[in-house]
Amino acid sequence: MSFFAPPKKKMMRQTVTHSRKCRLPQRQSRRTFQERLIWKLKVQSRQRKMGSHRVRLRMKSSEIEDRSTSTGTSDISKCKEEPPMQPHPKLFPRTWMGDRRRSFKADWYKIHPWLEYSKMSDSAHCYACRHFSPPNSTDTVFDSPSGFKNWKKATYKEGGFAIHAKSERHTHAMIAWKDYQRAVTSNETLANVLNKEHNKVVQENREYIKTIAEVLLLTATQNIAQRGHNESADSDNKGNFMTILETIANHDKAVKKRLTSIHNAKYTSKTIQNEVLGCLADMVRSEITEEVKNSEVFSIMADETKDVKKKEQISLVVRYYFNGAIQESFLHFESAERLDAAGLTEKIIHILESNGLEYKNNLVGQAYDGAAVMSGKHSGVQARIREQAKYAFYVHCNAHCLNLVLVDTVKAVPEAEQFFSLLEKLYFFTSGSYVHPKWLDIQREMYEGAPRELQRLSDTRWACRFISLRNIMDRLPALKRVLQDIAQERNGERSIEVRGLLAQLDLEFIVHLVTLRKVFAETTFLSDMLQSSSLDISKAVDLVESLVQTLNDFRQESFFDNLWDEVLNISEQCDTAIQPAAKRQKRLSSKLAESFVLTTVGQRETEQDKHGFRTAFFYPVIDQMLNELNRRFSNTNCDMMNSIQALNPKSDAFLKETSLFSFAQLYDANIEDLGHELHQFSRILDRKIKTGMQRPDSSVELVQLIEPYKEVFLSSSDCKIAVAIPVSSASCERSFSTLKLVKTVLRSTITDERLSNLGLLSIELRRSKALNLDLFVDRFAKNVKNHRIMLL
Ligand SMILES: [Zn+2]
Repeated sequence: MSFFAPPKKKMMRQTVTHSRKCRLPQRQSRRTFQERLIWKLKVQSRQRKMGSHRVRLRMKSSEIEDRSTSTGTSDISKCKEEPPMQPHPKLFPRTWMGDRRRSFKADWYKIHPWLEYSKMSDSAHCYACRHFSPPNSTDTVFDSPSGFKNWKKATYKEGGFAIHAKSERHTHAMIAWKDYQRAVTSNETLANVLNKEHNKVVQENREYIKTIAEVLLLTATQNIAQRGHNESADSDNKGNFMTILETIANHDKAVKKRLTSIHNAKYTSKTIQNEVLGCLADMVRSEITEEVKNSEVFSIMADETKDVKKKEQISLVVRYYFNGAIQESFLHFESAERLDAAGLTEKIIHILESNGLEYKNNLVGQAYDGAAVMSGKHSGVQARIREQAKYAFYVHCNAHCLNLVLVDTVKAVPEAEQFFSLLEKLYFFTSGSYVHPKWLDIQREMYEGAPRELQRLSDTRWACRFISLRNIMDRLPALKRVLQDIAQERNGERSIEVRGLLAQLDLEFIVHLVTLRKVFAETTFLSDMLQSSSLDISKAVDLVESLVQTLNDFRQESFFDNLWDEVLNISEQCDTAIQPAAKRQKRLSSKLAESFVLTTVGQRETEQDKHGFRTAFFYPVIDQMLNELNRRFSNTNCDMMNSIQALNPKSDAFLKETSLFSFAQLYDANIEDLGHELHQFSRILDRKIKTGMQRPDSSVELVQLIEPYKEVFLSSSDCKIAVAIPVSSASCERSFSTLKLVKTVLRSTITDERLSNLGLLSIELRRSKALNLDLFVDRFAKNVKNHRIMLL
């Protein structure tokens, strides 16, 4: 082992051997001070005689460096880990030796591979002797610091290199060197073998973890519960996750080996599942937050709902412009213990902060449904967030506003309210177990296509009532016939109930039905549009205005004439439908005995009725609705709504200075700069349109147009703000339907974190499915500590 002594130690030894004669004996420490002084003086005098200042009694490692520098040999190998220094300069220095000038020759390296050459001192050295000499061996010129320089004698048969090569000391050193090289090579081979084995294991582990992640992703995106009640080996139903994994194992030996092995970690525990889901969700979340950061400005939409455990859940969605389109991305579910404004604000800010989103300057809008705790002007969530994020202007969820318009309109017109109560009664009556089959049979008999159901009326989505109205209008004759049939069965209570209902399905009912159907058809269209995540607020304002215009058009005489025709038409159809009932004629004739009947009952109605219905019902509904639309849409955020139209290419106010400036001022933009830009931008836009470019149609298209020149047009950020402002909080509501699927009664004990992660993976389906699983494994290996299998 002494052959492998560390080089520094060796150099020290070599140097010290030069002063062998004055080497300190071991017992030095026991000498007296006087003796030591005399001895030291002797040494110094001897050193002077030898002319060598290199001799040191004690050398520190730093001094070794000094020594080689001072002699100019610091350019040769310093330890055995370095290869021999064999430089090939164009010219080796030539020195007069005997009859001519001579120099070192690079060819000598080939004959003597141990040769080293120092350019600094123009000397040859023996690599083997310098690094591999046995200790205490005699020093030679080839391992002395000055080295061999006699080029004349270098290649003598009995001198120079040849003599050195034959020396015993050199032979030993050469053997030690070769042994060392062999050992290094075999170590490397061993390391290679180990490395290959390691890589194979790592690869297998990575594939296995990827399989686990894929199964979890599949169950998450399909909203299937992962875990079974009993996941032990003998359980009949181990839950979806284990069952799918076992199915894969049937076709994949590596997975099978892993699942059945008693030595390996199976990685199927609840904890690992949570860690994998957490990691996958983090990847999706990072993608979203990166996009938000890239977009700079963003807004938030939040909403709350009660889950199956009656626990309040907040859903947070971010809205921003990215990659040519408006994005509404789900960010987080969070359960809320405190439902007051302060508690909710804290939660929202916490979610933004934990996702690294800069909200203080970049949050440009917030939208919630109408709950006072959220929208309260003074201490609601919106006001509290504004305190921390000055540009986070509040927009009342437009879909929600429209809903309120409908609710208030119906409440304000008693006939309309009664009409919907009757609709509800009809729904319950036809969905009863006795009536329902008959209701379907009669529809099949009378109409082609699938029978329709009367929809249950929802209080939160009034616009959906349109479907109920449409279905009942299309199937009114069938409904009347079912009721008629049941009435004639003379079945105690049911017959009495049905006669009550039948009596109410009169002309008045038809007028209400036809009117409300018309109105709701228009609002449903608007409601659907307002819930679309791609709609921008300026377009929303357009749409509301166009509904107002439509309702105004409804007030024209010709409109009601057409509506009245429709009413008569339906009532005729109803009477025709019930004609086949044999006893019907008799009953009718007795009721209408005094009337002048032409062909059907429908035509008995007069001009007087028409006028009466128009003034008593039709106008009140339309006017009430126009009032509500004006109240709910014009007053909220009036300034912003008006000024934002400056960025709507379809608006009359498009690029109008006053409007644009008042919008930009809200966000503290530099008005002077904006003025210049506006002028230039208008000219560029005109020129582009003249050269064939299509005129932008919406604010989003305007952003698409201006975004590539964002360095030129600073106002492009105002455009981005305009499209980032939320229109409705519908995306939050959509996330709640996923929440319901994720948090079913079966999984009601799920933790908040897992719920939010599963929700995110499911709602952001497109992103989840595109995740790079190799990156996932890297992230998982780094993030999750204490894993039992090697992944890197
Ligand atoms: Zn040697």
